Amino acid sequence: MSGTTGLPPYDDNNIFAKILRGEIPSKRVHEDEHAIAFHDINPQAPVHVLVIPRGRYVSLADFSANASEAEIAGFWRAVGRVARELGLEERGYRALTNMGQEGGQEVPHFHVHIFGGRRLGRMVPGVQA
Ligand code: AMP
Repeated sequence: MSGTTGLPPYDDNNIFAKILRGEIPSKRVHEDEHAIAFHDINPQAPVHVLVIPRGRYVSLADFSANASEAEIAGFWRAVGRVARELGLEERGYRALTNMGQEGGQEVPHFHVHIFGGRRLGRMVPGVQA
């Protein structure tokens, strides 16, 4: 799955791998064959949920290159479904993934953030020192 095209290998001890295995707690809002979703521990908006695939993918780069069609379809359907079931569709929401160092990715298991419940402002902050 990973370890190709310069990507780091998948680390089975990353925090989301532990959440998937049930070794550390999470506030789950959804789970199915391909994905689980749970509340972010440090929410940046009134609603801040993470959706992750069950498969061992480091990042969007890894997932988009190496996941099966069924995993990709199942995962993105879960993202839309979770947002809908959280009641975010009418007012709108943001779905975002951070990839690698400059993208600000901290946890090396592919995940999509869903933010909602307030007006979210600029998509990308301005230049920082
Ligand atoms: P990223 O920077 O895109 O890798 O985002 C990682 C996210 O995981 C951050 O928003 C963290 O607050 C969140 N996070 C880290 N540990 C946990 C945890 N145990 N349960 C829920 N969310 C977590």
